[in-house]
Amino acid sequence: MTHRRKLVVGNWKMHGGKAFADALLTELKALGPWSADVAVCPPALYLPQCEQLLAGSTIAWGSQDLSAHNGQGAYTGEFSATMLKDFGARYAIVGHSERRTYHAENDQLVAAKAKAALAQDVTPIVCVGETRAEREAGHTDAVVSRQLGAVIRNLGARIGEVVVAYEPVWAIGTGLTASPEQAQAVHERLRQQLLAATPAAAQMRILYGGSVKPDNAALLFAQPDIDGGLIGGAALQAADFDAICRA
Ligand code: PEP
Repeated sequence: MTHRRKLVVGNWKMHGGKAFADALLTELKALGPWSADVAVCPPALYLPQCEQLLAGSTIAWGSQDLSAHNGQGAYTGEFSATMLKDFGARYAIVGHSERRTYHAENDQLVAAKAKAALAQDVTPIVCVGETRAEREAGHTDAVVSRQLGAVIRNLGARIGEVVVAYEPVWAIGTGLTASPEQAQAVHERLRQQLLAATPAAAQMRILYGGSVKPDNAALLFAQPDIDGGLIGGAALQAADFDAICRA
């Protein structure tokens, strides 16, 4: 039986402010360490604050997105993995459903972003997930395997270095959560797809995201192929996030 250390990542989305970030990061630092690995992904503008406040702590930090382009260039509004590295970021979320929906990111762009992150040794957290309509039509497996497949094809052997997050779109920010069994079933199939690409998949972390709260985290994280969580709303409250990290 492989031991995979759990990972809990807070996605602040477009929330916060300088004072808010200062208070929450300081509080979290005091609440840790946890037996799980823990990371926060605030809006990118607050990454310098993470570097200042969290350096030397067990909490890692990352971005919610990044450019598919490396280094520097004429890409107004973008920031690269090189720049993330500059601020000590360990992770970059890619392909979050809000990016796919509101910014028209397709599977190929998401795969290119994952590759750009890895090129600087920033670990991409690759999000996949079906909409409610896709689930009801019985297309869940087809959708998530298409989304993951694009990343597997682009990264080749390095796919083993990414973190995957299964986030059913219908569960994000809605208060609806996939049942532990529903989530486990998808995680197991994602793991099989990864295993077909690399033996390292046995060690890879597949996170669940979608209305994870202190009262449902333990059951979800107890599933054999659920290796932690990507947490939205509950990551904005130190006590809730701490409780999830302890679960
Ligand atoms: C997310 O945005 O990744 C997420 C899972 O949000 P929430 O926990 O609020 O559903």
